[in-house]
Amino acid sequence: MSQYLLACDEGTSSARSVLFDREGQVAASAQIELQSIFPNDGWVEQDANAIWEAQRQSITDALEQMGTTTSALHAVGITNQRETTLVWDKSTGKPVGPAITWQCRRTADQCAAINSSNDAEWISARTGLKIDPYFSATKLRWILDSDPDLAQRAVNGELAFGTVDSWLIFKLTEGRLHAIDRTNASRTLLMNLREGTWDDDILSCFDIPPSMLPTIAPSSGEIGYTSGDVLGVEIPIAGVAGDQQAALVGQKCTTANSAKLTYGTGAFLLVHTGFEAKVSNCGLLSTTAASQGERDEFAIEGSVFSAGSAIQWLRDNLGLLATAAESEDLATSVPNCGGVYLVPAFEGLGAPHWAANVRGALVGLSRAADRRHIVRAALESIALQSYDLIEALESDTGDQISELRVDGGAAANDFLLQFQADLLDRPVVRPVDLESTARGAANLAAAATDFWLEASYEVDRRFEPDMTATDRDSKLDEWHAALGAVL
Ligand code: ADP
Repeated sequence: MSQYLLACDEGTSSARSVLFDREGQVAASAQIELQSIFPNDGWVEQDANAIWEAQRQSITDALEQMGTTTSALHAVGITNQRETTLVWDKSTGKPVGPAITWQCRRTADQCAAINSSNDAEWISARTGLKIDPYFSATKLRWILDSDPDLAQRAVNGELAFGTVDSWLIFKLTEGRLHAIDRTNASRTLLMNLREGTWDDDILSCFDIPPSMLPTIAPSSGEIGYTSGDVLGVEIPIAGVAGDQQAALVGQKCTTANSAKLTYGTGAFLLVHTGFEAKVSNCGLLSTTAASQGERDEFAIEGSVFSAGSAIQWLRDNLGLLATAAESEDLATSVPNCGGVYLVPAFEGLGAPHWAANVRGALVGLSRAADRRHIVRAALESIALQSYDLIEALESDTGDQISELRVDGGAAANDFLLQFQADLLDRPVVRPVDLESTARGAANLAAAATDFWLEASYEVDRRFEPDMTATDRDSKLDEWHAALGAVL
């Protein structure tokens, strides 16, 4: 009997492969680093072949850890960095150029032009997104505009467009399947969010030949089989979702108003909105959630640009910390922040402030302030920004989340999670397995292939709120004063 479910987790900085056993436990995990290329100011690319090779190598390494081969695999789940845009030749399978990653800002001028036209509003309304270089559509247009020969080959139907999930599916099936899962499709700026189909008007607006587009597939279901020549076995590809949507599933946030927050470099909030696509008035995005049933599911999404990166900044730029983990002991070695607030607007501020051009500040310094207060202020700033995001989202949707499930690197920090619970006046829950992304992809594939009965979700710790309303209010007032000074 096949023993393991393979989750391929293709991220920005690495490709990982995780083997889950029939109890839903992680049996093995292997990771291969990936390089990004920065050819111009604000441009970010990756080598498409390197993405595949790293993924393939991590699969081999994970299997080796268990002393087994692909014959032990039951099915594959895929989760991936979203929005990253690839184009390849349909007949040779060769990429026509590098992958343009989600971080790449090269199409800022094109987006600014659309934003000042009449098209921005209806495209946003249909896709749930904003017109921004982040999403795939303008990146794809840029690739076609970069070379008249490519534009012609696209019109001739010779080229394929895909996001990273499409690319991995294409490689795993040895070119037999050109597909994209619905959550990834919802991030291209080409999909009608409510219909779940490519939008003809938007395709015409960006002048994208429909023949380039992959088939939109469900997130959970057997969408194709791996090639025996590539993987050594023919097994179903049965779960696919973009990283944030996969994390939502991995955290078992699969009903309306359940929410997860990932504290990584930035902080990513996703709130499930059930079978309804909700519209935000404060610039949050509406997106597809990975559905395991017949009906379409939706989520609302917002992010804080600088979260864990504020801790990195203290460590690498100011030399206040040797390791990120040390921040917890330093923060708890003082009773409070001593009036010090860090507004880590290193890349401007995102939702709900949307102030791209402001920059960070450290305010409230007295002669008594030392590095412990600054470190504490940095950790508090992660929770305070997340609080503002959640508050904005709740006033937008009119719904309340009852608890917040967290993951990501900085979720290891107990002080941060307790402070977050105190600010929200609601429990913050940390699972044992912080790799929610891989787990989500595995859950989607398991559901479609009857691999396990119940997706496991083990709580490591529940942080209960423990702050008086007066203290909370004065904390928030001081933070908002600091923010106001920056804005
Ligand atoms: P990403 O996926 O964005 O690379 P990770 O989820 O791996 O991020 O988390 C790494 C981030 O978390 C870094 O910015 C780091 O500064 C921060 N971090 C890691 N451990 C801790 C900790 N114990 N306390 C606070 N921040 C931490």
